[in-house]
Amino acid sequence: MAVLKLGAPMRGWAESLDEVDDPVFAGRMLGDGVAIDPVGAEVRAPCDGEVTSVHRAGHAVSLRAGCGAELLVHVGLETVSLGGRGFIRHVADGAAVKAGDLLISVDLEAVARTAKSLITPMVLTNGDEFEIVRRNIGRRVEVGDVVMEIRPLAETSSASPVKPETAARQVVIPLAHGLHARPSALIAAEAKRHVADIRLSHGGREANARSPVAIMALGLVRHDAVSVTASGAEAAGAVAAVADLIERGLPGEPPPPAPSLAQAPGPELPPADASVLEGTPAAPGLAIGSAVRLIARAPAVNEVSRGVAAESAALAEALSALRQRMSRQAATGPQAQTEIVRAHLAFLDDEDLAAAARDAIEAGASAGVAWRRAIEAQVAILRQVSDVHIAQRADDLVDLERQVLVELAGESEAPQVLPDHAVLLAEDLGPAQLIGLPKTLAGICTARGGPTSHVAILATAMNIPAVVAVGPAVMRVPDGAAVILDGGAGRLHVAPSASELSQAQTRLAVLHARRRETAALASEPCRMGDGTRIEVFANLGSVADAGAAMAAGAEGCGLLRTEFLFLGREGAPSENEQVETYQAIAKTLAGAPLVIRTLDVGGDKPVPFLDLPPEANPALGLRGVRVSLSRPELLSAQIRAILRVTPQNQCRILVPMVASLSELTAVRQAIAIARSELGHRDEIQVGVMIETPAAAVTADLLAAEADFLSIGTNDLTQYVLAMDRENPQLAGQTDALHPAVLRLIAATTRGARVHGRQVAVCGGLAADPAAAAILIGLGVTELSAPPAAIPELKAAVRALTFPPCEDLAARALECASAAEVRALMSSASGGER
Ligand code: PEP
Ligand code: MG
Repeated sequence: MAVLKLGAPMRGWAESLDEVDDPVFAGRMLGDGVAIDPVGAEVRAPCDGEVTSVHRAGHAVSLRAGCGAELLVHVGLETVSLGGRGFIRHVADGAAVKAGDLLISVDLEAVARTAKSLITPMVLTNGDEFEIVRRNIGRRVEVGDVVMEIRPLAETSSASPVKPETAARQVVIPLAHGLHARPSALIAAEAKRHVADIRLSHGGREANARSPVAIMALGLVRHDAVSVTASGAEAAGAVAAVADLIERGLPGEPPPPAPSLAQAPGPELPPADASVLEGTPAAPGLAIGSAVRLIARAPAVNEVSRGVAAESAALAEALSALRQRMSRQAATGPQAQTEIVRAHLAFLDDEDLAAAARDAIEAGASAGVAWRRAIEAQVAILRQVSDVHIAQRADDLVDLERQVLVELAGESEAPQVLPDHAVLLAEDLGPAQLIGLPKTLAGICTARGGPTSHVAILATAMNIPAVVAVGPAVMRVPDGAAVILDGGAGRLHVAPSASELSQAQTRLAVLHARRRETAALASEPCRMGDGTRIEVFANLGSVADAGAAMAAGAEGCGLLRTEFLFLGREGAPSENEQVETYQAIAKTLAGAPLVIRTLDVGGDKPVPFLDLPPEANPALGLRGVRVSLSRPELLSAQIRAILRVTPQNQCRILVPMVASLSELTAVRQAIAIARSELGHRDEIQVGVMIETPAAAVTADLLAAEADFLSIGTNDLTQYVLAMDRENPQLAGQTDALHPAVLRLIAATTRGARVHGRQVAVCGGLAADPAAAAILIGLGVTELSAPPAAIPELKAAVRALTFPPCEDLAARALECASAAEVRALMSSASGGER
């Protein structure tokens, strides 16, 4: 194929990218090319092609040439922050342009006043597919003077002159936290299912959709428009799959650490003075102990290459060993750990990271040096992203760098030996380091880090109080110093006075005594003060959760969210795989009831392999039982798997997102068929989730056919208040204690009573011990909550008696707002507890 000549897009001086004062361009992270130090105010097309994207700020434009070359012209450095000031766009996405056509005009003076530099890189973002020859470097050039000549490396034979199939679509990011680690990993997983080369581009930057790290580096936040383009076989299908996945909304950031119900609020510490270090709360709780600085051993790195083959093999071996270790970690521990380790596994399989490391090895680097360089390049990009959630993922990459280097060095990650009551002080801490630390750790305090980091999420899940972003002073605290760490307030009190220490110790002793008391009673059946029986069950989302639930005193499982078996994979789990998982959970629950919810996907829980059609309003679309009824083979496999669990009467089936009786009837028919196929003798109880206002107000009709009802207050609140449960701006208002929600709960228990059915609550409201009185007063007899909430919940229920609860509930129904209900609750709690 002929050489493609690329003209200077602007009048000015042609320079090497080495002259660009920006590690992203100078480091060729976005590709190789040239730069123009401009004197002219027009950006013109360097060749014929199609505009794949023009950034809305007008400072960058991407083009695809007929030969497949992808070009990015980025006017100036850090010009995105100008928000379009000084730029006029003359073309739109998708426009066909000829060499020399005007793309953007620039007010050079205005831009020069605020931008870091006017230097304009023009890079080939898929440069590894081309041979590049630069021309006129160091010379003054006019627009159109040749500055690069490129020739495809895989020069195809004359037998294949076919233009590759291409497709493109623009989508808008719906996720509250943008494309951070997990959504990026899901997109990459989807992209890998297609042969076509899929790219995401935004703001003149482009990412290989098979690389989660590259996707994250785009820094896409909510409402950003991103172009999904593909070339190659079945490009249109590939674009549709990835674009749909993004548009339907990928699973978002786990909620920021909420106060753990198993933790008492931290104490009121004395006001800050020289010995009180202030940071950011990351995980609640109180710890009193002695400071232990983390010994950050940098793994030994062999700096000298033993040859490409040996270094490639060493890196492959280290990655494989780490992959195995991580897979084991993903299969154990709390759900938060599983999710985080899975995201790290996706980084480990990242194509761009692997390619960068491979290139470095081929260029003569050792495996360790190559891996370090590959990670450093990505970390540099991530740290520049303005979205804090995404920037914090750089810490995960640093953690991954260390783990691979440890493997390469053949060192073990033996945890540091810690004394009892150690409060660990560290410059920073990676999730893998935290997972490897002894569980006796009293608290964590770091100089850096952020409250939404994976370490913060893990510490919350592990009930370890944590404070982050304290600054370098934390590493000057001497080893062995007495400290009080208040996770809720975000404070580290160093060398407190004797009276401060004893005050904190008293509070901690009270807290521990209460915890011991609740733990001792946790395994006892839960009864109110007057003997009324209230069942306290657990919500589970993994096999590991079942163990935690039993340890916390759960009397059964009120909600098994079976989505964990279906999310983030390429196909549905087989019937046998489901039987195995459900059976393992049933066994861990040692005969206690196990309520298994049929698949509840769609809406906020997309499952790519189901290939569900894109919807304008996913929360009001095909989700919950509607999906199951539209895929009878999925429903039947799941029902059969549940029926095959032994003992036969341990499991119950719960049907999500029901709006009409006919849905329950259809599920019951599927159950009847499965039972007759399997020769299943015992009746199985079938319950309905009350998550739609329709279900709540027709609870009497549903209760006539259902064996029990279980209220999902998360969705019920969203639907009755017409407020998206994922929308952070509405977080303060989507309160399940809103009287409208309470009235629907009352309608549900009223309807259930007509047929003598039990009503459970398994939504988030059930985990709030303060809300137990109202729920019980409204007629709820089962509360199902996350395992960590159970001891506290049981203790709260035991402190109640029924008549005051009934009275409180009646008054709550008359309140005008959630705030009034909360005020009522707190004024009543003094007398009740
Ligand atoms: C609910 O909606 O309250 C519920 C328990 O279901 P999920 O949170 O899984 O949608
Ligand atoms: Mg729900």
